[in-house]
This record gives sequence, structure tokens and C-alpha cells, in this order.
Amino acid sequence: MTNIIRMSSLYAPTLKEDPSDAELASHRLLLRAGMIRKMGSGLYTFLPLGMRVLNKISNIVSEEMDAIGAQEIIMPILQPADLWHESGRWEAYGPELMRISDRHDADFCLGPTHEEIITALVRNELRSYKELPLALYQTQMKYRDEIRPRFGLMRSREFLMKDAYSFHATQESLQETYDDMSEAYGRIMDRLGLQWRAVEADGGQIGGKVTIEFMALADAGEASIVYSDSGYAADTEAGVCIARPTEYKVDGIEKIATPGVHTIDELAAFLDIPASSTVKALSGKDGEGRLAVLFIPGDHELNELKAVRELGGFTLLTDDEMTGFGLKKGSMGPVGLPKAARLVADRSLQGISRWVVGANDDGYHYVGAQLGVDFEIDGWADLCEVQPGDSCPVSGEPLKGARGIEVGQVFQLGTKYSEAMGATFMDEDGSEKPFIMGCYGVGVSRALAAVVEQCHDEHGIAWPASVAPAHVCVIPLTVNDDTVGPAAEKLAAELAELGVEVAIDDRKDRAGVKFNDADLIGWPVQIIVGKRGLEAGTVEVKHRRTGEKKDVSLSSIVELFT
Ligand code: ATP
Ligand code: MG
Ligand code: MG
Ligand code: MG
Repeated sequence: MTNIIRMSSLYAPTLKEDPSDAELASHRLLLRAGMIRKMGSGLYTFLPLGMRVLNKISNIVSEEMDAIGAQEIIMPILQPADLWHESGRWEAYGPELMRISDRHDADFCLGPTHEEIITALVRNELRSYKELPLALYQTQMKYRDEIRPRFGLMRSREFLMKDAYSFHATQESLQETYDDMSEAYGRIMDRLGLQWRAVEADGGQIGGKVTIEFMALADAGEASIVYSDSGYAADTEAGVCIARPTEYKVDGIEKIATPGVHTIDELAAFLDIPASSTVKALSGKDGEGRLAVLFIPGDHELNELKAVRELGGFTLLTDDEMTGFGLKKGSMGPVGLPKAARLVADRSLQGISRWVVGANDDGYHYVGAQLGVDFEIDGWADLCEVQPGDSCPVSGEPLKGARGIEVGQVFQLGTKYSEAMGATFMDEDGSEKPFIMGCYGVGVSRALAAVVEQCHDEHGIAWPASVAPAHVCVIPLTVNDDTVGPAAEKLAAELAELGVEVAIDDRKDRAGVKFNDADLIGWPVQIIVGKRGLEAGTVEVKHRRTGEKKDVSLSSIVELFT
């Protein structure tokens, strides 16, 4: 029994007019093609055609995960607040977390991501280095109370994500899986037919290689990226600080001489701050001086900062990495100021009692600054973000700008969660160590919108065959005709028998309606069956993407698909 999609019974109410509140092509066309329907702000139903595409994308992602040895599981969407208290994120995650309580007044959230759950899952049972590395993944609805849900599936409050997590005994092992994941993500983007770029993202990424975003290139994308011809690319939010000291707003803040201070430890010692309270430093460079921020939390703020560090992905560069990017060996790095600024603006960093800021002037620092109070965060973030035209931190060429849709992100978490949640294993030498972890996410439903954003024209969607709801739509021009209807049915059945995914427009509608809908829905190939053609033994084959049409003899049509 082969499945043929019958337009006569398919639940795909198409719309002639553009919905008024849909700005983006993907949003508009997915609604018009009867693939999705809005249920509320940031909430969508996938209708049968949308569901088929979603499943295809999801299958591609699963295949690539399976291929690198990740194992599929499914975890609860409903997550106990206790676990989030353990990681410190119940507070730190902020208003994006959808919180609910049960009849016993126990708190829960609807999972926006699953680090806490997976860490709790393995912490009692994954015990030995011999069982590592381990990578697990799931594909599941995620919930984020986005401040501005918009653009349909692009930024919704309920969305489908594939999230994977890996556990390791060593940094080298994490790096291996991280590289495998990055390659798998590249293959996913290719198989979705996307034009894409891997870009360095938030937090210490310059050479630190801590996190990479996979961006589908699209003018409608919310993210802005910069790239150079030699291959460097970054999210402009990545905070590649190309700082201009004269433009800092530093009124009222003490600028002190810090001769000979080049490292975080030296700075901490100079300021007489116990090294244990030094959490992270961020810095960048403009060729001359450097910019650094030192978080100096009090004890009670440490937990909050741990969470912040996870969010920001702040990491120090090793000396080798520093010199690799032309920075002074032992100087501070890398960068995350825009992220820090945003976190402050989000009130996630309120506990910070003191900031020390590199004056971008060799041998000087600013002290006593309150980021977000003494600095104008917005302006500062702008300054810190790298802009098109700035010089590439690697090659020095001028950077070009583009817009992107963040489809996926890979991230080295380190021991953030395992330490906070007491998830340890026994290493070869018998010692207990926290797992070194990675996490890797693909927005499956956002990917669907990204494909439409790249693959459409004024008539509708033009799906790449890999994710199309079906490969072919057979369109009989008249269904009641003695020859046309049966010939179309026979052809559809033959193709389906060959394993081709087939739809047939067996509705009694006019040909024009069928053509419009076929173009709108975006089947990669249309086979138009008409009376005159049949008399000559031919059908018309139309390729949606090129618009190319040709008559093909009925006897050889099947060969097109074998
Ligand atoms: P963004 O920067 O767009 O807010 P994010 O960085 O917060 O995304 P991640 O935490 O990295 O998202 O989640 C992994 C993936 O989930 C993202 O790369 C994206 O494809 C998808 N995603 C995140 N938020 C949404 C959303 N609100 N709607 C649809 N997909 C989303
Ligand atoms: Mg987000
Ligand atoms: Mg992002
Ligand atoms: Mg992300």
C-alpha cells in the first residue's frame, strides 16, 4: 500500500491573500500554503503538509546525530525547579523561563533547554571513565517566553529543537565530539539545501573555539554577522571588541596606573583581590591597548555568576591562542562585553559588586565602575560589537556584513553543570572528577522557516527535494474526463510504487487554481496531465525552482525518477 497525498481530502486550507500580520516571506507563505496555523502569540499548529516537512528535517537531523554515535532519548518537558536551583539558573534564566506550579505548589518550568535534566539523569549512573564519552540527544518541543515572539516559526514560544549533550573525561575528548558535532551540523545545513556560514559566537570565541553558531544567510535574519574572504566569520554579537578608547564613557571613574599588569592573576594580585573570587575576565584589542573586565563577586554572588558564566560562555584564552591572534602572550582574553552588557541590562548580573575595566591604554585600568550604571550600556555594546568595515581580527582585511538566521549552535560547556550539580565519574587514576560537557542545539522548526526564507519566489515556496512535503505533484487538468483522471491516477500509482513521494491534485477545481496551489505549496516537480498531451502520449513536467517545463512521453516519465 503506497501513500499518495490526495489534494481532494488533504487538510491544507490555502489562502489567496497575504495574512496581514505576517511580515516575513516564510511566515506569510507557510500560512498561505496551509502548512501552519497560529494558535496564539508564538504558538503554532503544524498542519499535514507542514508536519511532513518538519518530520523530514527532524529525520535528517536524527540521521546525522546517529551517524556520529549520539543516542536518542526523550526527557520530560516538565522540569522540577529543584534542579534549576542546583544549577543556579532558576534565578539567572530570567523571565524567558516558563514557570508553573503543580497542585502541591511545587515549582516546575517548561524546558527551554535540558542541561539540568540530563546532568541529573547521568550523575548517579554514569560512573566510570570507561563509559565515556557519551552523547545523548532528543527532539522535542521547547518553551521560551520570548519577549517578542514574531516572524512565525522563527521566534516562537513553543518550538521544536534537537538538543544533544555530551559527557567526557578530558578536554581532548570534548573537542573531538564538538568537532564531530560541528561537522554533522554542516552536513545538516547542506542537506537542508541552505546557504550557510558557521560563525564565531558569544563569549571568548576568538580562537577559543568555545561556541559556533550555524547561520542560514537571509536578509530577513535577525542576526547580523561579519565575515572576511579568508574565511573568518563572527556573529556581531560575539563581542569581538575592537575598542576605541576615546569613545568610552568613563566619567567619574577612577583611572589607575597598573604598571606591569598583563594577566588576570597579576591584576587580582595588584588589587589585592583573592584569586578565588576572580571569576572571569574579558578583553579585546584594537592593536594597541586592551580592554578587560574583571568580575569581582562577593561570596553570595558566586552562584549567580556561575550561571552567568554559563550563559555568556566566557573563557580565558591560553597563551598559545593569544599569540595565535596577535595578542600579547599572557594578556587577557577574550571577549564578551556585549554579552555582559546585555546580561546587565537583563539584570542577570546585578550581584556584581565591582568591576575593573581595562582602559585600553597600556598600564592603566579603570576601577570602581558599575557596568550598566557608570557606562552607557547600549552605546558601549555598540562600540564593542564588531561592525562591517572593521578589520578582521585574524587577517586584518576589512570585514563584510550579512544577515543570518541562527539555525543551530554548538557549545563547550566544560564543568559548569557537572560541578554545580555534583555529577562526577571515577577517572583512570581512581579520582572523582566532574564531567566535562558539551551541548548542541538545532532549531528544527526555525530551520523549516529558514529554508522557506531562502527558497521562495513571488508565487510561493520552492522546496529543495530533501525536505519537500512530497517530490512530485501529479495534476490532472480535468478529473471527470474518461482518460485524464485515470491516466493521472495510474501515473501517480506507478511513481509511488517506485518510492517517489507523490501528491495528486484530484480536486474538481479549475486548472488555474491547481497551478497556483502547486506553486504556492512548492512541490519540486509538477506533472501536468492533459487531454491533448495524452493523445500525443505525453505529459508536461515542470520544475518548480527553475520554472522549466518540458513535454515528456508517458513511457519515459518513470525513467526520470529511477
Ligand atoms: P536566538 O539567539 O535566536 O534567541 P538562542 O541562541 O537563544 O537563539 P539556543 O539556546 O542556541 O537559541 O537554542 C538552539 C536553537 O534553537 C537556536 O539555534 C535556534 O535555531 C532555536 N531557537 C531558539 N529560540 C527559538 C525560538 N524562540 N523559536 C524558534 N527557534 C528557536
Ligand atoms: Mg534566545
Ligand atoms: Mg543566539
Ligand atoms: Mg544560540
